[in-house]
Parts: sequence; C-alpha cells; structure tokens
Amino acid sequence: MGKVYLVGAGPGAPDLLTLRAAEILERAELVFHDALVHPQTLALAARARKILVGKRSGRHSTAQSFINKRLVDAARKHGVVVRLKGGDPMLFGRAQEEIDALRKAGIDFEIVPGVTAATAASAELRVSLTRRGLARHVAFVTPRAGSGERENDWAASVLAADTAVIYMGAGLAEEISAELIARGKPKSTPLVVVESATLPEQRILRGTLADLPALALGAGGGPALVLLGEVLRAGRTESVLAEKIEVILKRA
Ligand code: SAH
Repeated sequence: MGKVYLVGAGPGAPDLLTLRAAEILERAELVFHDALVHPQTLALAARARKILVGKRSGRHSTAQSFINKRLVDAARKHGVVVRLKGGDPMLFGRAQEEIDALRKAGIDFEIVPGVTAATAASAELRVSLTRRGLARHVAFVTPRAGSGERENDWAASVLAADTAVIYMGAGLAEEISAELIARGKPKSTPLVVVESATLPEQRILRGTLADLPALALGAGGGPALVLLGEVLRAGRTESVLAEKIEVILKRA
C-alpha cells in the first residue's frame, strides 16, 4: 500500500513551494494536479506520471468522486502518490472530500501546506491584512457553492470582517458588489483585485466596492482574488487622488 500526499503548490511562482513539497515531488510516482500548477513545479516530479485533474470554473473538470477513486486506486498500486493543489490544499480545494475517501479506504496520507493566494496577494500588495489599529478580523470567503451544497451567507462574513479576501469571486463581480452595497457596506470601501499573484502576468486593479464590476472586466482571465477593507486604502500616506482605477502591470 502506498501513501497519498495532499500537497500545496503555492499561489503561482514555482519558488513559493515548501522544501517538504519539493522533496515529496522528487520521490513521487504519480502526480494528480490542478490546472493552475506551474510547469516548473511539475518538473520537480521528474520520475512521475502527471495527470491533470484540476478544476477551473467554467471549464471542463473531473468529477470529485472520480478523483477520490483515482487517488485510492493509485495508492493501492504505487508507493508515493501526490495530489498537488494550487495554494494551500486545505483552503477551497475540496481536500476534506479526498481525506474522507482515503480514510474510508484505509490509505495512509499526509498534508503538506502551501502559501495560499490571500497571503501571496498581501505580500505583493505590501499590505498587512491585519494592520494594527485597523484590522483584527480577516475572512477568507467564497460566494461559490457547489451543486447540492448548503447556501452560505458569504456576505455576512464579509460584512463582519475588517478585511475580506474573496476567492473565486471575479466572475461574480456584479453580484458581490450589489449584495454587499445592498446590505450596507459603503460603496467607497477600498477594494483591490489581484490577478495571477506572484506570476509575471500579475495585475493589480484598485478601486472601491462600487468599482468592482468595472475592475473585474479589466482583469485578464487569470485566477483572481478580491480583497476589501480599510487596510487596502491606496496611498494611505500619499495623495489618493491620482486615478480611480489604476492598473499596474508587474515588470511592465
Ligand atoms: N487552494 C487555493 C485556492 C483554490 S480556489 C489557495 O489556497 O490559494 C481558486 C481561487 O483561488 C481562484 O479562483 C482565485 O480566487 C484564487 N487564486 C489562486 N491562485 C491565485 C493567484 N495566483 N492570484 C490570485 N488569486 C488566486
């Protein structure tokens, strides 16, 4: 019987990977990976057969139950099986379903954490999500619910938090902005969209909650986070007046 490692690949840049993850990838015989994993990260698994099972919203994806079964089957035939997920495997990655399936099948497994998109974006923005005096409460939220999933009041979490980081939200910009404003969040709440954080094509789009639909249109289709809260107010010490929507192309 083999062992399955649920490994975080980090947010994008291939060097944002833990040493533990790299060491396991080098030993891997089989790697089931998401679409967003960087080719250089996959290349570390030099001996492994690599199988794309990842999901990207709106595109073809492998059913979760099928992925669970493949992990179990693989562990019965191989020694070192890796399930490589973007960011941290335990955040918005359906890890628990895989864990439950492995546990039920009696298969040994281990989790290797990774840098999640929210902390990567915070680093790229050079903004602390918990800036002292402004934010003691950070929420990681997604408005997306899978089919058959219980409704979640994601907006209540955003309203309660000092800083909110919304995963998988760029395609729902209109709904997010409208819902939060309708429930009393000020239109002027500082907001930033970070697309493809840590990658060369990274983009940072700044505005307010009211601007979110326009900002999302300006994004280029890469994975994107929406961050909002006072800590994100642009140029806290400089003039804020420049442009309402400012697009910074990294390394442009
Ligand atoms: N487990 C991942 C999240 C998976 S959900 C993690 O911990 O980061 C996928 C969502 O993550 C995307 O829709 C996007 O909102 C966010 N995301 C992933 N990589 C990103 C990146 N490089 N830049 C911005 N957002 C990213």
